[in-house]
Amino acid sequence: MSDSKVHKCLIVGSGPAGYTAAIYASRANLFPVMYQGIEPGGQLMLTTEVENYPGYPKGVQGPEMMEEFRQQAERMGADIKFGLITKVNFEGPIHKLYLDSGEELLAHTVIIATGAAAKWLGLPSEQRLNGSGVSACAVCDGFFYKGQELAIVGAGDTACEEALYLSNLSPMVHMIVRRDKMRASAVMQERVLKNPKIKVYWNSETMEILGDKLVEGVRIINNVTNEVTDIPVKGFFVAIGHQPNALPFKDYIDTDEQGYIKTICGSTRTNVAGVFAAGDVQDKTYRQAVTAAGSGCMAALDAERYLSAIGVH
Ligand code: NDP
Repeated sequence: MSDSKVHKCLIVGSGPAGYTAAIYASRANLFPVMYQGIEPGGQLMLTTEVENYPGYPKGVQGPEMMEEFRQQAERMGADIKFGLITKVNFEGPIHKLYLDSGEELLAHTVIIATGAAAKWLGLPSEQRLNGSGVSACAVCDGFFYKGQELAIVGAGDTACEEALYLSNLSPMVHMIVRRDKMRASAVMQERVLKNPKIKVYWNSETMEILGDKLVEGVRIINNVTNEVTDIPVKGFFVAIGHQPNALPFKDYIDTDEQGYIKTICGSTRTNVAGVFAAGDVQDKTYRQAVTAAGSGCMAALDAERYLSAIGVH
């Protein structure tokens, strides 16, 4: 295959990391091509108000912010395509990536910015009723249960944010917390605990989601007293964290025990020369839009330096 068909820079994923990489790579004349993946815009498409991204003093809706990122990347010249990378071959100096259609793509540099996806509890009833009252996205699905009592499991910032969101739709949100404390930031906890429409069940674990075709309730057990309680609800929301979307790369790219891509300290370099990782797929510590965007910028700069070092101009 002729070298002209080898992309200088191929970006996989389209959250804040991918779009920022695309903006920087375009301005550096790397003519980046981005494959957006299954959820264009990434996790921020499932968020409501973002209050902590600098430059938006009044806050901004997650999907609106991602649309602005996309427009900026396109205006700089990034070629943004819909498509899912399912397989790669990083054996040679030219990296090979495969779309779900089977099409092969070639690139000198690859920026992996595939983010992370919601985790599930792993209960059979959760799987059976998924989409029939069970959801991992309050913002996407909460509206369907307007006026109904709901349950949410988790105790991080996401669970708090989603419980607060649901409390605007529901007369009572039952929040199931497995320990006697929450992991969420103090400000989010305070908002939840002050909200009269959120009832917190401490030391409680979900045994089963009740219902035949639709969710009708949730059975929980108190892990201190062993007391079992059935709570009648019409919707059950899971907000227990995320796992990195690194599967297509796992045969070549080093990951840690939780599956996050390992990068060389102080850079976005992976163990494969010319392959870089940015955003939540390589960050289990900060996981913020602004840190993802920052690492997307780093990845584009790292790719530019690598291309220059191997003499691709
Ligand atoms: P986290 O990993 O922070 O929290 C996951 C929560 O789910 C924990 O409370 C954990 O409990 C609980 N959990 C995990 N597994 C189970 C299980 N099997 N059963 C019951 N509970 C379970 O994930 P988040 O998605 O909440 O947040 C991810 C990152 O994004 C964090 O850094 C967070 O600060 C950030 N974030 C920031 C926001 C903002 O600033 N506006 C909004 C949303 C997220 P336990 O504590 O017992 O381990």
